Amino acid sequence: MATLAGKVALVTGASKGIGAEIARELAAQGAAVVVNYSSSKAGADKVVADITGKGGKAVAVGANVADPADVVKLFAEAKKAYGKVDVLVNNAGIYEFAGIEEITPEHFHKQFNLNVLGLLLATQEAVKLMGSGGSVINISSIVSTTALPQTAVYSATKAAVDAVTRSLAKELGPRGIRVNSVNPGMIETEGTTAANITAHDGEFRKLTEAQTPLGRIGQPSDVAPVVAFMASSASGWVTGEEIRVGGGFT
Ligand code: NAP
Repeated sequence: MATLAGKVALVTGASKGIGAEIARELAAQGAAVVVNYSSSKAGADKVVADITGKGGKAVAVGANVADPADVVKLFAEAKKAYGKVDVLVNNAGIYEFAGIEEITPEHFHKQFNLNVLGLLLATQEAVKLMGSGGSVINISSIVSTTALPQTAVYSATKAAVDAVTRSLAKELGPRGIRVNSVNPGMIETEGTTAANITAHDGEFRKLTEAQTPLGRIGQPSDVAPVVAFMASSASGWVTGEEIRVGGGFT
């Protein structure tokens, strides 16, 4: 069922991981998709090829979402390609673990500049193209409320994301724009694999699985359909919410 037919969606950080699967899912639901990437043009081109190969519409646009000028260019390209934006998925994000002794200004600013400032800059540009309504979905994390050691800064970025969601939902509701957070649990992606978070024999994965009622960590395909639902009119009276997608992990 094409629940997003005629809609235009922009997904930040869609060259791999959760963002790539969200882009594919939104396209499968009928949306034309702007696939943003930062360094992995080949990854973004592959996502576009997956979508167009199935008869969908997509373009890849490179932009560093933490850079204000790049964000302006990203949305100018989106406007040029499809004329509007109905759905923004603020997915681009980085996670770095550090104990209290290792936290540096660089560690702090790198994560806040992308995960929080980048999300605000992208939303600022998107609302200009949303016309009479739209849906903004912020990819937060269960760590925004579930404390994990070594993640003070990353968790703080995601708690900030949820605060942004609640505030903007109130601010933009009168303009017909809904704003929600989708908060995944541990998901196996290129990023978590590279950071050695989801290794099969790894302590972190085993601990997470043991504390997860549904007994496993997640895949990007566990998250993408929830995002598609939040993008669609089926969730049309839902705004300012945090939807945890983590197999019951608390
Ligand atoms: P990932 O595999 O590391 O992929 C990250 C994506 O973000 C890539 O497409 C990357 O693009 C893009 N990106 C990085 N820096 C960027 C920048 N400055 N501007 C634009 N795009 C940028 O990440 P993931 O695991 O899928 O995570 C995606 C989101 O979900 C993040 O917000 C993360 O915090 C959140 N999340 C992840 C998990 C998890 O367990 N995986 C759990 C909860 C929440 P390039 O490759 O082109 O540089």
